[in-house]
Amino acid sequence: MRPLALFALLSAAPVILAAQSPSPSRLSAELDRRITAVMPKVVSWRRDIHQHPELSGEEVRTAKLVAEHLRSLGIETTTGVGGHGVVGVLRGGRPGPVVALRSDMDGLPVEEQVDLPFKSKARGVYRGASVGIMHACGHDNHVAMLMGAAEVLAGMKGELPGTVKFIFQPAEEGLPNGGSGAPLMIKQGVLESPKVDAIFGLHVGPGPLGQITYRPGPAMAASNSFTIVVRGRQSHGATPWAGIDPIVVGAQIVTGIQTLVSRQIDISAVPAIVTIGAFQGGVRNNIIPDSVVMLGTIRTFDKAIRDDLFRRITRTTEMIAASAGATARIVIDSGNLVTRNDSALTLRMVGTLERAAGSAGAEVAPLWTASEDFSAFQDRIPGLFFNLGVTPKGQDWRVVPSNHSPSFFADEGALPTGVRALSSLAIDFLTGVGIRRQ
Ligand SMILES: [Zn+2]
Ligand SMILES: [Zn+2]
Repeated sequence: MRPLALFALLSAAPVILAAQSPSPSRLSAELDRRITAVMPKVVSWRRDIHQHPELSGEEVRTAKLVAEHLRSLGIETTTGVGGHGVVGVLRGGRPGPVVALRSDMDGLPVEEQVDLPFKSKARGVYRGASVGIMHACGHDNHVAMLMGAAEVLAGMKGELPGTVKFIFQPAEEGLPNGGSGAPLMIKQGVLESPKVDAIFGLHVGPGPLGQITYRPGPAMAASNSFTIVVRGRQSHGATPWAGIDPIVVGAQIVTGIQTLVSRQIDISAVPAIVTIGAFQGGVRNNIIPDSVVMLGTIRTFDKAIRDDLFRRITRTTEMIAASAGATARIVIDSGNLVTRNDSALTLRMVGTLERAAGSAGAEVAPLWTASEDFSAFQDRIPGLFFNLGVTPKGQDWRVVPSNHSPSFFADEGALPTGVRALSSLAIDFLTGVGIRRQ
């Protein structure tokens, strides 16, 4: 969205009276000064957290670091929210709305292959297996940037017309037995007392260093995992007629499911994806097994398409199995919702993002088929989730190792942009920047 189009949209937006607030330019000068001052700390927090990553649901050390920092700033701090979640409430010196800034805190069961002085050597147990642990999704950057924003905003507390809630969320990547941190925090009231009016969050990833990308409306996919169990009847591999072969049925189901998106779903508006990522059955060349288990994921950008796809996958699976005299049971989990950026809020904040990104720029992103449990917050209140490019200058961000790779690398040069974006979004939201005044 370019400025002219934005202006047209804002002009058409309803006129809202904003509360009297300090001059935005004075706040922005103070903000710049405070960001510069806090950056050495942000870098050292990030390195410390990077070196000590923790798996989803085990973020004890990270939560302690965050809580101690928030308390040192005089921010009301609650721990143990939705697991190891930490919530800070900073009440400004003037009345006004409530804005939330969110960072996730968990690492992944990945063994780091990046040669850094603060490389992770952490190990843990994931689903019974001994694993290396790494901040392979870059959440170490998110935590450090939000700790920095908290320090910046706490220093300007007296001038803030409203309240900032800092949400440090555990288990974004999902808990081993299902579920994830955002819905758990919501269940424990993180969006209430005080009630949050809008929420902002960011994610680092491949992209030109310091560039911000955002997308009004659906931005990241809904993600639903599913399990299919095909039951046939065991027999000798030499006499298949004596049994029902679940491997052949399973193969037909894989192929059948692949025709749904290409032949049955209207993908002219938004795409959809169905992937089978695991197919397990049998132990030996000449024994037809009793059953086959398949695991997959569904990615969609629209609730009606998602629900339609659920019905079609179930029908295809069950009827292909029935056609062979086998049975198939499919279980689809509740997964992540679509990360849907509130369009009016996004357009209102484009100027803020552009100023935060400076010469690296802020651009509209294409749809992204990854998913985020930030979507759970956006299901309740208006929210904006955006991306921050962390690919070092001189490297092609299109081909560098992506998030979740053991070789994922985030250049610290983007950290000031993230701190500036988060702090500015909070200030601009509270002070009514982007809202037309009478
Ligand atoms: Zn991730
Ligand atoms: Zn992530």
